[in-house]
Amino acid sequence: MRDDIEAVLDQMAEKLRSRLPDDAAIIGIYTGGVWVAEALQRRLDLETEAGQVDISFYRDDFTRIGLHPQVRASHIPFDVDNRHILLVDDVLHTGRTIRAALNEIFDYGRPAQITLAVLVDRDGRELPIQADVVGMYQPLQSGEQIKLTGPEPLRLEIRQQQGA
Ligand code: 5GP
Ligand code: MG
Repeated sequence: MRDDIEAVLDQMAEKLRSRLPDDAAIIGIYTGGVWVAEALQRRLDLETEAGQVDISFYRDDFTRIGLHPQVRASHIPFDVDNRHILLVDDVLHTGRTIRAALNEIFDYGRPAQITLAVLVDRDGRELPIQADVVGMYQPLQSGEQIKLTGPEPLRLEIRQQQGA
């Protein structure tokens, strides 16, 4: 797995620059997605204060992840109506977290467009959701998970799932 995360973030920002209007707003998915969103926000110079959504699972151990994502709390300090929103998460797996985050954003209004950026695509989609910009593609063996530490510096490693 790539460990030059700063370079990966630079590349993501470069790809995003051509896709986003100047007045785009950013929303990170708590916790890891907020760290990645902050790193991208600095590189993109977006002016609007970033938003956050917190999606968790009824049973949020990694063996059960993906069953029932629920929105716990959101802080979206801007009007989403007609806005181009950059939605950011750390890891994309089944796609259920993103589906829940999209539902939550639409409860606040109707964005003009939503672009999805993720630091890692670990494969295993259960819904037809793909990211527009992916930092790295890292399919995992069963029993593996990605350990993310942050926010500064962001680090990634592949770990054996606890109890696996
Ligand atoms: P999904 O809903 O797509 O199945 O899972 C994505 C969400 O679960 C993301 O918010 C991400 O933080 C978390 N997630 C899924 N797999 C992993 C993983 O291997 N490592 C980490 N750190 N988070 C993961
Ligand atoms: Mg998460």
